[in-house]
Amino acid sequence: MAFEKAERLKRLPPYLFQEIDRLKAELMARGIDVINLGVGDPDLPTPKHIIERLQEAVEDPATHQYPSYSGMNDFRVSVARWYRRRFGVELDPVREVLTLIGSKEGIAHFPFAFINPGDVALVPTPAYPVYHTTIMFAGGESHFMPLVRENRFLPDLDAIPAEVARKAVLMFINYPNNPTGATAERAFFEKVLDFACTNGIIVCHDAAYTEMAFDGYRPMSFLEIPGAKDVGIEFHSLSKTYNMTGWRLGFAVGNADILDGLGQIKSNIDSGAFNAVQMAGIAALEGDQSCVTEMQRVYRERRDTLIEGLRKVGLTPDLPKATFYVWCPTPPGYSSIQFTSLLLREAGIVTTPGSGFGPPGEGYVRMALTVDKGRIEEAVKRMEKLSF
Ligand SMILES: *Cc1c(COP(=O)(O)O)cnc(C)c1O
Repeated sequence: MAFEKAERLKRLPPYLFQEIDRLKAELMARGIDVINLGVGDPDLPTPKHIIERLQEAVEDPATHQYPSYSGMNDFRVSVARWYRRRFGVELDPVREVLTLIGSKEGIAHFPFAFINPGDVALVPTPAYPVYHTTIMFAGGESHFMPLVRENRFLPDLDAIPAEVARKAVLMFINYPNNPTGATAERAFFEKVLDFACTNGIIVCHDAAYTEMAFDGYRPMSFLEIPGAKDVGIEFHSLSKTYNMTGWRLGFAVGNADILDGLGQIKSNIDSGAFNAVQMAGIAALEGDQSCVTEMQRVYRERRDTLIEGLRKVGLTPDLPKATFYVWCPTPPGYSSIQFTSLLLREAGIVTTPGSGFGPPGEGYVRMALTVDKGRIEEAVKRMEKLSF
C-alpha cells in the first residue's frame, strides 16, 4: 500500500548531499582511500574521567528510572556554576536551566512553544539546517538573514524590513558559527538585544561552539549582555566541548518564562535525559578542564595545517578563530557542488557544498577538521595535484 507523507515532509528542501553520498559510497566500494572532511563530528574519544563516571552511575539502579522532565537538579546546578565560572553569568538552576537530550533536540522543539501557523521567524542562511526545518514543521515562515563575507558572516539587522521585524516572533543566531566559522563580538550581541527589545522578539542563541576556540580567544555568551535574559535563551551542548556527540546531552539557559514554554513542549514529547548521562555531564562540567585545552590544541594544529595547505594551492579561506570548520571559497569558475565533486572524484576528499546550508553558501565548501594532521597533510598533497 502506498501512504502519502505529510505536507511538512514534502516541503523539506531537496537533499543536496545525496549525490555526494552516492559518489562517496561508490569510491569506497572501489577501494579508494577516502578522506572525510564532511561531517562535524569529533573523531577524538570522550575524556576518560567522564566515561568512568558514567560506568559508575549506570551501576546504580536509581539511575534506571525515568529522569525528571526538566533535568536532574544536580546537573542544572553544575550548569549554573559553569556559566558563572566561564561567563560571569548568574542563573537560577531551577527556573533558568533546562536539560536537553542534545541541543538539537531543544532547538528542534523550541518553535512549537512560540510559533503559531503563519508566524515569522528570523533565520540565518547559510546555517545549521535545523533552524529552518523546525520553523517549517511548526507552521511558521522563515525570513532569511543572509550571512556574507562582506559583513563578517553576521546578519545585517538593518536590512530586515520594519514590518517583518514587527511581525517576527523569534530569531536564531549561532556564534561561533557553523558552517562559516565566524565569531561575534559584544557590539553585535548588543545590537541583537536592542533589536529584539524594540520589536518584541525572542532571541535563541545556539552557543554549541563557545569552547572550541583558538589562540586564547574566548567567545562570549549572549547572556553576558545586561538585559539579555529579558528576551533570550542560549542553547549549549556537551557534544563538541567534551567529544560527547553520541551521548546526547545539552542544555538551554536564560529567560525562565521562555524556557518554561520549551519545558512544556518537551514534557509532552520526551521523558528527559538518562540520569547516568547527566551525572557524567556533571563530571565533565565540574572536572579538570585540561581535556578542553587539549581539544583546542589538537584542532588549532589541524586548522593551521589545512589553512596553510589551502592557501598554498591558491584557495583563500579566512583563518577561523573558533569552531572546527574551514569555510573555503571555491576556485573561480566552480560552484559549490562542482568543487565538492572535483575534490571527491579526483582526490577522494569529502567536503560539504556550502550551498547545502542555504543559497548564500554558494561559492564555498565547508571542511571539518575531524581527521588527524597526517590525513590533512595527505589531503593537501592530493589537492596540489589537481588543476583548478
Ligand atoms: C553540533 C551542533 C550542535 C550540537 O548538537 P547536539 O544535539 O548538542 O549534539 C548544535 N548546533 C550546531 C550549529 C551544531 O553544529
